[in-house]
Amino acid sequence: MLVLRDLTAGYGATTVLRKVNLIVPPGSVVALLGPNGAGKTTLLRAASGLLTPKSGSVLIDGHDVTGADPDRLMRRGVCHIPEGRGVFRSLTVRENLVTFSRPGEEEKAISSAVEAFPRLGERINQVAGTMSGGEQQMLALARAYVQKPRFVLLDEVSMGLAPKIVDEVFEFLALLANRGAALLLVEQYVARALDVADYVYLLNKGEVAFAGEPDELDADALAEQYVGSA
Ligand code: ATP
Repeated sequence: MLVLRDLTAGYGATTVLRKVNLIVPPGSVVALLGPNGAGKTTLLRAASGLLTPKSGSVLIDGHDVTGADPDRLMRRGVCHIPEGRGVFRSLTVRENLVTFSRPGEEEKAISSAVEAFPRLGERINQVAGTMSGGEQQMLALARAYVQKPRFVLLDEVSMGLAPKIVDEVFEFLALLANRGAALLLVEQYVARALDVADYVYLLNKGEVAFAGEPDELDADALAEQYVGSA
C-alpha cells in the first residue's frame, strides 16, 4: 500500500500541499481530482521521489521512503508517467523500451509492449520524437507495463489526444489494473476517471477537500470546487 501521511510539499518558500493524507491500496484505482493549480502534479512528484517533501511522510507497505530518490522508489514498484509523455524523443521505440525494461528482460518487455500496443510494433525502429502524440503516449504507457510496477502514477495521460486514442488509453489502464497494478490517476476527463476509480480524492488549494468512493461524491459540490477555484 502506498500512503502519504500529513504530506506538506512545495517549491522553495512556496507551500503547495498542506498536510495531505492519501492511501493507494494494492490493486485499486484512485482518482485524484481538483482544479488547475490544486497541487495534483506536485502530489505525484512527491509520491515518486521527484520532489522531497517539506514534512510528512511517504510510506510503501509501512516502510518510510520519504526523501528516497526516484530510482529507489522505482525499485520499490513506483512508476510515474509524467505530464507531457516522458519518452526519450531522440531514441527509437525499441531503444526506449530497452531503457524502461528490467536488466535481462529487454526482449520479453518489448514483446509484451508490442502485444499491448500493436502500433508500437509497426514503429519499433522509428525515432520516438517523430511519432504522433498518441503514439508517443502509448510508448510512455508501455513503460508502465514493462516495468511491472505495483503503483502507477499517471499525470493527465489522455491530454491532447483524439477521442479514439483516449478510449485506447482507458482500455490500457483497465488492463494494467487487471494485471494487479494500483493506479493513482490525475485526469482531466473527470467522468471517465470516476467511472474506473474505486476511490476518489478531491484536492483544492493543496488540501484534501473530499476523500471517499465515487458514488459518495456530490456532483454539484465537485462542479463548485472546479468553478469556485477557476
Ligand atoms: P494543473 O491541473 O493545472 O496541472 P495541478 O493541480 O497539477 O494543476 P501543480 O502543477 O501541482 O497543480 O501546481 C500547484 C502550484 O504549484 C501552482 O500554483 C504552480 O504554479 C506551483 N508550481 C508548480 N511547479 C512549480 C515549480 N517548479 N516552481 C514553483 N512553483 C511551482
